[in-house]
Amino acid sequence: MRRLNSAEMKAENRSRVLSCVRAEPLSRADLARRTGLTRAAITGIVDGLIADGLIVEGARAEAPVGRSPILLEVRPQARFAAGLNISREGYVLGLVDLCGDVTVAQTYAADEFASPDEALDFLCEELKRLTAAHRGDRFLGVGITAPGPLDAAAGRILHPPNLAFWEDFPVADALADRWGCPVRLENNAKALALAEKDYGAGRALGSFLELVVDTGIGAGIVLDGTLFRGTSGFGSELGHCSVDLHGPLCSCGNRGCVELYAAIPNILRYAQTQGMCFSSWEALVDAAEGGDASARGVVEQEAAYLACAATNAVNLFDLAGVVLAGTVTYRHALLAELLEQRMGGIMRHVRPIQVCASALTGDAAVLSSANLVLADFFGNKR
Ligand SMILES: [Zn+2]
Repeated sequence: MRRLNSAEMKAENRSRVLSCVRAEPLSRADLARRTGLTRAAITGIVDGLIADGLIVEGARAEAPVGRSPILLEVRPQARFAAGLNISREGYVLGLVDLCGDVTVAQTYAADEFASPDEALDFLCEELKRLTAAHRGDRFLGVGITAPGPLDAAAGRILHPPNLAFWEDFPVADALADRWGCPVRLENNAKALALAEKDYGAGRALGSFLELVVDTGIGAGIVLDGTLFRGTSGFGSELGHCSVDLHGPLCSCGNRGCVELYAAIPNILRYAQTQGMCFSSWEALVDAAEGGDASARGVVEQEAAYLACAATNAVNLFDLAGVVLAGTVTYRHALLAELLEQRMGGIMRHVRPIQVCASALTGDAAVLSSANLVLADFFGNKR
């Protein structure tokens, strides 16, 4: 490993202090303990961060004896980042402050544009309007999330199913050229996992699986606080883990992928084969919660598929838990309970595997997109 020079070391220490304060308000003494830096070093770094307007002195901590120390907090207005979520339905564009609060979010229909360039021209004008008050030093850049597969490092959307409009398009460069700021691109489920780690249920888990169940199944895996990417950035495609060696052929080339059974349209189709008709997952869960035993059976079937795939991930990575996101967060208690019961594997004998719903508040699509840029600013490993 290359040794850092003194300027790099200084920047690294400053990032570490800022990251600690980002996670929770801390006193100077807390920071010295967390980072292992001396009190004098902490004082110097904190003075610099306060002078730059990045952190402020907030409330006093509760102290059992003596004078209670002042807690340091990130100043929300110090920087802003924009988030753009691209989906099959349309676009959500918004701004997020340094504390992860979505200050504005706008939704646009997908069918308004003839080409990706036309869509980007329009979105840039909108971005200009939204960021009018936040340009200059305070604006960090734009994070974009989109369905996979995509090449995050190259900033290019590849060939997501049912999203031919953006096929093989270098969206990050195209936006950076128009806007002149850093632009990051990431798979929507992975970005959600990263945001969950920074702001949601993942803060308490450390290593977890973010399981996004919608019209498809997406996933992100965070290991010891770092988003797992794999060799080419395509890691954690749990939707394409097989749950049946002899199952139907998937578009990915594998057989029996869990998405073929447990994506929302597919589980509703399964309900139909059982003589039931539900217009949505929400209607199915409402019926199950209302005492409809057949509907509950379908939710149990969904839990069986998801548990089979999730157990593979838990076994491979020794994960502390599974965070549900997407459509299945609707009245999630039943599904979460069934998953906890059904998830087997070796870890089960060591400790319980927690299953919970995403704890991201506000517009998670905008937050997780903008957070790609915020994470860079805080020096997090993306
Ligand atoms: Zn597949």
